[in-house]
Parts: sequence; C-alpha cells; structure tokens
Amino acid sequence: MSLVNEHYLKLKAGYLFPEIGRRVKAFSDSHPEAKVIRLGIGDVTRPLAPAVIKAFHEGVDDLGKSETFHGYGPEQGYEWLSKVIVDKSYQPLGVTLKTSEVFISDGSKCDSANILDIFALGNKVAICDPVYPVYNDTNVMIGRTGEADERGYYQGLVYLPCTAENHFTPAIPKEKVDIIYLCYPNNPTGMVATTEQLQAWVDYANAHQAVIFFDAAYEAFITEPGIPHSIYEIDGARTCAIEFRSFSKTAGFTGVRCGLTVVPEELTAMTAGGEKIALNKLWNRRQCTKFNGVSYPVQKAAAAVYSDEGWPQVQEIIAFYMENARLIREGLSAAGITCYGGVNAPYIWLKTPGGMKSWDFFDKLLNECHVVGTPGSGFGPSGEGYFRLSAFGSRENVQEAIKRIRQKWGN
Ligand SMILES: *Cc1c(COP(=O)(O)O)cnc(C)c1O
Repeated sequence: MSLVNEHYLKLKAGYLFPEIGRRVKAFSDSHPEAKVIRLGIGDVTRPLAPAVIKAFHEGVDDLGKSETFHGYGPEQGYEWLSKVIVDKSYQPLGVTLKTSEVFISDGSKCDSANILDIFALGNKVAICDPVYPVYNDTNVMIGRTGEADERGYYQGLVYLPCTAENHFTPAIPKEKVDIIYLCYPNNPTGMVATTEQLQAWVDYANAHQAVIFFDAAYEAFITEPGIPHSIYEIDGARTCAIEFRSFSKTAGFTGVRCGLTVVPEELTAMTAGGEKIALNKLWNRRQCTKFNGVSYPVQKAAAAVYSDEGWPQVQEIIAFYMENARLIREGLSAAGITCYGGVNAPYIWLKTPGGMKSWDFFDKLLNECHVVGTPGSGFGPSGEGYFRLSAFGSRENVQEAIKRIRQKWGN
C-alpha cells in the first residue's frame, strides 16, 4: 500500500484562479454578447523581442549541426549566460558576483519552491500577507505547517501583514524567525522597498543568522531612481540573502522558462551540531542531482535579452506595460478609487470602493463593467478589501476597461 504526502491535503487546493475562471465562465455563458476584459492573471501578452527570437533560432540551428551540437549542459547553466547576467545586470548596480554564485534555472517559481530542500524543517519561516501563494503553499507541502485556521493562516508560519497602514512593508517580527521571504517590487501589491527598509531586514537577518529569500522577479519594472533592484545592493546582504530572478516578466519568458538563483559563497547556515555549511555548495549539490539544466536555445535566447540589440527592445516592452500601469492608476484615481503600486511594478493594488469585500467587488466589476481582476483576499487575509489589476493587457483593453470603470464609479 502506498501512502500519500498528507501535507498536500492541508492545502486549500488552487482556490483563487480556478474560482475566478468559474465565475467568469458562468458570466460569459449567460451574457454571450459581453466583451469581457481580463486584467486578472499575471501573465505577459507581448511577443518576445526580435533579438531574442533571432538568438533562439540560432540556438536551435546549432543543435542541427554536428560541429555546434550541444547535449547536456552544465546543471548550473552555461558560464556565458551567467557572465552576461553578472556583467550586464548586476555590475551596473555596483554588485559584484562570481559566475559560480549564479545558478540558471527554468524559472523562479520552481527555484523558490525547491530551495526549501536544503533547509531543515525546524526553521521558523516568515512570509508576507498578502503574498505570492507559492511561498505559503510550498511550505505546507513540505510539511512545515499544521492545518490552516479559519482565516487561512497555517499553524507554524509567521505572517507579516502588509496593508496601507504600514505602507505595505511589514514590520520586523517581534519573535525570532530563521527564514524570511521578501518580494520587491511586490506581487500582488505593486509596492517597493527602500534601501533603508531592506537594510533593516538585512541587519535583522545577520543579527539572528537568518536567511532572506529575496524574490526580484519584477526588478526590471522599477522606474524610480534610488529603489534597490537587488538585495545585494544592501550592505551585509551577501552573508544573509538568496536572490531569485526570472526572465518571465522581464523579457516575456513565461512560456519559454528561464530564471536564476544567486547564492553567495559567504552565505552559510548551521547544522544542529553548530557547524557552518556553505549554502552555495548545498544548492549546487541539489541542482546537480535533481536538475539537468535549461535547454541550450533557451539560454541563448536569455543571453540575447542583455545584448546591445536586445536590451533596448526588452526595455521598450517593459515601458509599454508601465504605460498601461500609469493609465490604470491615473484613470482609477481620477474616478476616486485609491490605488497603490503601478509605478515600479506592473500591478495596481486598489482599495475597493466603499470598503467592499474583495470578492463582492470582483462580482460587481465582472457583472457591471465586464472587467476581470484578482480579489486581494485570494493572496492572504490581509488582502481583504483590496483588488489587483494587472498592466499586462493590450492598450485597447486597458483603455476600454478604465473607461468602463470610470463610467461606473467616476463622475
Ligand atoms: C511571475 C512571478 C515569478 C516568476 O516565476 P517564473 O517561474 O520564473 O515564471 C516569481 N515570483 C513572483 C512573485 C512572480 O509573480
């Protein structure tokens, strides 16, 4: 008889997006004439940049010739891709990394889940609320938690509420924690952390020998100067932080799959016996055993993102999404709706008008404006009363959605 991993049974299985899909389908079935605009799911819509496509094709052609054929690549990714990332993406921030500290992967959802492999279950883990659901659910799956309570908080995790009252940056917890997930620019709130705020976390982590998991999936969307793009811009981060990055939102790789994880060589964690272990070595061991690298053409395509030709093209696409974000933010603000985010991230996090519940606002927006967004409560209890709109749509759809919302709520 085989037994299942019963920790999976604690999950409120895939509640959010299936429920959105169900409600949208029910509405569309009963209103076939309605043109529904989807600003819900955080997926990109613009095609890959031409320089990226060219490199991708060249990578495929290389595989068709014996002189340039590639079989298994290094589990850590090709050195030339890591070097491009170190030189073109980190060096300009004043951050010096070795290529051996960069691990190329098939995306940062997987990495942020897989990283739990190299940490003991006994670690006390803190996550923000609202949050990217992967951080919460992967900790449940691996067995770090008890059951969820009636609010949706799992026993054993420390939740850090992020609301307008604390400007969506959590206070340092009073209790001691060992692992902290931070995501800036943030999904879902679209807010960023300042150097001072991140410095406080880094100081906390170093003082308590804790590790920060820093998710920088949206760093390329930062438009304001002075906002950190990487945790390693903060003094002391090399001894306490692992950073996750992704080509998904930066360069439209959601369907191509490429990301990276940085594990500095100085970063250590303890054995129960008090011995310091280098996490870079442990993660390398994990990847070599459980991962076989990202496909060669994909890595060629990823390197082209930072080429002289590719980077301006990629920037143009990001600017397009950020113009959508500006239109949504300003359009809704003009209708009297309080909006957060959307300046350094492709998400607008709005306060529901009249203090409506997130799902009530979802239904109202769907039924009366035929616009789909994401209820804030789906990202955690502290998201109740908030709502997320994504800037990844087409310009026409974004403009039409704003027009409909303003007709409903504006003057
Ligand atoms: C989209 C997203 C990612 C990227 O995941 P990939 O697996 O690289 O596509 C990571 N973190 C957050 C918070 C995201 O929203």
